Amino acid sequence: MKKRISILGSTGSIGRQALEVIERLQDKFEIISLAGGSNIDLLNEQILKFKPKYAYSTKPQEIIGAKYLPLEEICSDKSNDIILVAVSGKIGLKPTLIAINNGIDIALANKETLVMAGDIVMNLAKSKGVNIIPVDSEHCAIHQCIKDISQVEKLIITASGGPFLHKSIDEMKNATVEQALAHPRWDMGRKITVDSATLMNKGLEVIEAHHLFNINYDKIDVVVHPQSIIHSAIEYVDGSVVAQIGLPSMHIPIQYAISYPERFAGIKSKSFSFSEIARLDFEEPDWNKFKALKIAYNCGQIGGSAPVCMNAANEEGVFAFLEGKIKLFDIINLVEKMLEKHSVTKSPTLEEIFEIDNEIRIKTRENF
Ligand code: MG
Repeated sequence: MKKRISILGSTGSIGRQALEVIERLQDKFEIISLAGGSNIDLLNEQILKFKPKYAYSTKPQEIIGAKYLPLEEICSDKSNDIILVAVSGKIGLKPTLIAINNGIDIALANKETLVMAGDIVMNLAKSKGVNIIPVDSEHCAIHQCIKDISQVEKLIITASGGPFLHKSIDEMKNATVEQALAHPRWDMGRKITVDSATLMNKGLEVIEAHHLFNINYDKIDVVVHPQSIIHSAIEYVDGSVVAQIGLPSMHIPIQYAISYPERFAGIKSKSFSFSEIARLDFEEPDWNKFKALKIAYNCGQIGGSAPVCMNAANEEGVFAFLEGKIKLFDIINLVEKMLEKHSVTKSPTLEEIFEIDNEIRIKTRENF
């Protein structure tokens, strides 16, 4: 029987790559719904090719070939076996919760969902018996390495280091949008690529890992590994280290997440060869240059609404940077400024999370 899947964010980077995976596995998957944003031409092309029953767009009257459904209805459609949440930023949270509430498994490519409301999301998933399979390459790696969390000494999350790894602080301060978007290893959307340049992406991933694997922050390490061949690793209590290794292509973790627990022949440009890789380098992150990483650890440890505040200020900062309104370093300076003034709510409800998120965004925008 085919696995029935819907994709939220089908016109984005992960969504497009997911459709490339599914195109080759048409005997394994049936697409129920495709949800795009405003890129209606691409969405209509996808509808023509993959023939979903339903589609969502911010331009509903322009959808051709599928019935329009609001996002909430797409996510509560129980004919789905799994929903791939591949939208960027805070808009991932609500649809993910609706799908979990309806008992539908999640392939999660949206880390902001767990950064904003990790406790709520993971508790709901547990109570509904829903699997959350990470698409993020590091967490997908850990998911493949982990057997029993109680035997884990620590998680080792790798970071490519982004385009400014060996650049000076001054070069990074004056970086153009183009330089920040020129990621050396991964082809990703604009928001996550800027996050990778500041290492905020790694900070968000540390918080994501804490929630996904229910592990304390002092047991999560980050190591810079510029080649992005080791996607992450686990050290077990007995000293054994298990790592997941592969070429840096998002097709692999996307396919893993949507196919789990099965594995199918995948899209490969070539077979993996250790001798071709030749060498792997590792180094400690530069905590001074990449303040975002330290901030994220702190926010994670404080918990409550601290990560909500951090995430909201960061996302607004990234948008402003992409629009040329502020410099790259200003993003993290703004995050710090917002956190200084934020009084933390300990266990925020979902309503409180959205209120705080909204309030922080408004306050952040007052700075540019
Ligand atoms: Mg990642």
